[in-house]
Amino acid sequence: MTNHLFDGLFGKMYASRDLAVLPYGESWSYGKALDFSGQLANWLVDSGVKPGDRVAVQVPKSLEAALLYVACVRAGAVFLPLNTAYTAAEVSYFVGDSGARLLVCNPKDQDAYQEMAQSLACRLETLGTTGDDGWASGTVVAAAREAETAFANVDRSAEDLAAILYTSGTTGRSKGAMLSHDNLLSNAQALVDLWQFSDQDVLLHALPIFHTHGLFVAINVTLLSGASMIFLPAFKVDDMIAHLPQATTMMGVPTFYTRLLDDDRFTRELVTHMRLFVSGSAPLLAETHVQFEERTGHRVLERYGMTETNMNTSNPYDGERRAGTVGFPLPGTKVRVCDPDSGAECAAEAVGMIEVTGPNVFAGYWNMPEKTASEFKADGYFITGDLGKIDADGYLHIVGRSKDLIISGGLNIYPKEIELVLDEQEGVLESAVIGVPHPDFGEAVVAVLVASGEGLDQDAVGEAIRPHLARFKHPKHIEVVKELPRNTMGKVQKNVLRDQLAGLFAS
Ligand code: AMP
Repeated sequence: MTNHLFDGLFGKMYASRDLAVLPYGESWSYGKALDFSGQLANWLVDSGVKPGDRVAVQVPKSLEAALLYVACVRAGAVFLPLNTAYTAAEVSYFVGDSGARLLVCNPKDQDAYQEMAQSLACRLETLGTTGDDGWASGTVVAAAREAETAFANVDRSAEDLAAILYTSGTTGRSKGAMLSHDNLLSNAQALVDLWQFSDQDVLLHALPIFHTHGLFVAINVTLLSGASMIFLPAFKVDDMIAHLPQATTMMGVPTFYTRLLDDDRFTRELVTHMRLFVSGSAPLLAETHVQFEERTGHRVLERYGMTETNMNTSNPYDGERRAGTVGFPLPGTKVRVCDPDSGAECAAEAVGMIEVTGPNVFAGYWNMPEKTASEFKADGYFITGDLGKIDADGYLHIVGRSKDLIISGGLNIYPKEIELVLDEQEGVLESAVIGVPHPDFGEAVVAVLVASGEGLDQDAVGEAIRPHLARFKHPKHIEVVKELPRNTMGKVQKNVLRDQLAGLFAS
């Protein structure tokens, strides 16, 4: 029997080595984790889950929840993690759309979800944690503990589906990205090689596990290299400071880095022994990069990926990690930048649509053949929806999502270009530039600023940026806010800002 992803991930594991150390004083060896994943897989089969069935999971972070992913792989099921912030109505859509056979939810949501699960002919079970201490609870854990640890893995090939991850869907309905066994395994292999992970590594894991970053990048890389992780339920600065001394590597979203830098206890001495800091899921400000190096002596390694493609590019491990860029294509992955209108490949430095192909790229959107077809080019490249450029040295720069492109008076304006200038100004901590409907121009450039201290003078900022930008790029309005709206992965939600400021120029 071969199970492509499981055989690949667990090829190097040592039964007695720690897979995970939990903050409340428990550690799980690889052997124990494997046994429990076997119990969970037996329980899945006993619960009627057949190969190919979708298992939807919306639960608080726990090691047991991570092992439910492993159990689904072993049982040939399709793991479908859901953001813990989704409401009952949203969960109902995902369960209905995917046709999930089983929904595992937080015990506190059981009553609210019962009727919906029944109407969708979906079995409902629970997996939670007991308060802040993080011990697992719920019907799944109780039942699995009674099951056999030995489990004969279900045969799965490289092309079989391992997971469906719904995209965050800031415009329109979320789409279910279908990820195959080899999409996940090949990407983990590329990252382990590139980032030089080994069984000597201890990864500080504070990311959520319903998203590709914390689930696949972090956990698959750990399993494949035989490394350990310190598995924290969430990102809290105090916990990070307490556990960094035992770690060798950390993966984070940019807000992890800015929050650590905001704390005086985050010192060079605390992290001298660290081998690698990785950032992704949202742009790391060049300023954060510089501050981080000044404080710690480490250069953050920034990489670029998305739900549909796993990781696409990374700054080099050994070569120059260039701030404001996401580096080079991973081995086996090809990246190009094309003119969105003509489709022709752009010259170096020219901005266009980022397109990727490789073993990392997903198999399509669940139940959406037309949408899938429209997002792939005839030669197999996936159109990411991100705009970017490749510089003369081959580094990829991301300038933003294409849907955030501003067209004012018929001219294309890339928000990132204006944000970079704004971020340099006195008193500006960070910025987001959006297009807002305007009676004359179609859209007008609006800058939303967060001040770094008291008394930000927005007129002065408006004046100061004039010499740096062509006139049509000058913001027609500058708004100062306390903080930018972000989702759980630290991405600025420009759609929220656009909605809030939509009436600004209404006549
Ligand atoms: P998600 O599917 O939620 O992982 O979001 C993927 C999107 O996040 C990409 O299409 C990019 O727009 C953005 N993203 C991911 N990594 C980076 C990065 N290092 N810099 C800038 N944007 C990023």
